[in-house]
Amino acid sequence: MSENLFVKWTILPQEPPQPLLYCKRCGGTRNFRSSGKIRVNANGKRVDAWLVYKCMSCDGTWNRPVLERQSVRSIDPLLLASLCANDAKLADRLAFDVEGLRRWAPHLKEASNAVVARELLSETPARPLELRILCVVPCHMALRLDRLLADELRIPRSRIHALEKSGALVVFPSASRALRKPVRDGTKLLIRPPAEDADWIARSAAYGDDCP
Ligand SMILES: [Zn+2]
Repeated sequence: MSENLFVKWTILPQEPPQPLLYCKRCGGTRNFRSSGKIRVNANGKRVDAWLVYKCMSCDGTWNRPVLERQSVRSIDPLLLASLCANDAKLADRLAFDVEGLRRWAPHLKEASNAVVARELLSETPARPLELRILCVVPCHMALRLDRLLADELRIPRSRIHALEKSGALVVFPSASRALRKPVRDGTKLLIRPPAEDADWIARSAAYGDDCP
C-alpha cells in the first residue's frame, strides 16, 4: 500500500460577498447583502433583470444588473424562465459571483469563512508519510491559506508556519509569503508531517470533524 495520502478540498465561501456602496436612503457607505430576489422588467423585445440587494443598516435597496436592455431572442430561454420565476438557485449563483459583482461594486467584503468538501483521491494509508492536498476554489475568497490550514488540519497557525519553515510543508505554485495570502484555485500542498502528528494531520485532512 502507498504511504501517500491524496485529498481534494473544494473550498466554498459560507456567505456571499457584500458590496460596499453609498446608500441613498440612510446617507452613508454601507454593506449591502443579496435579498435573494430577482426583478425582471420586459419592455417590448428588451429585457432588464436585476438581483436586489438591501442596505444592512436601513433596508434601502440597490439593484445589481444581470441583464441590461437585452433582446429577448438573444437570451437563453432557460435563463429567462429562471429569472422570471425568481429561481433561488440562480439568485444564489449570482450572489456568489464575485467577479460579476465587482463590475458594479469595486469594493466588496468577501467571505472569510469557508465550507470545505473533502474527496479522497487515494486510499488512506495506515502510516501516512506524505500528504498532498489539492485546493479547488470555484469563487474568489479572502480566506488566508494559513487560516484555512489551521482550521481544517486542527492545529495552531504558528504550527503551520513552523512546518513551512522546516520544509515539512510546501505550497505550489511557490510564492513569497504564500501562507499569508488568500487561497487560490489550483493551489497544491505537500506536507510531510512529523511522526508524532502524522496521524492527526492526515485524518483531519481526509475527514475533518468527521474523523472515523
Ligand atoms: Zn441604508
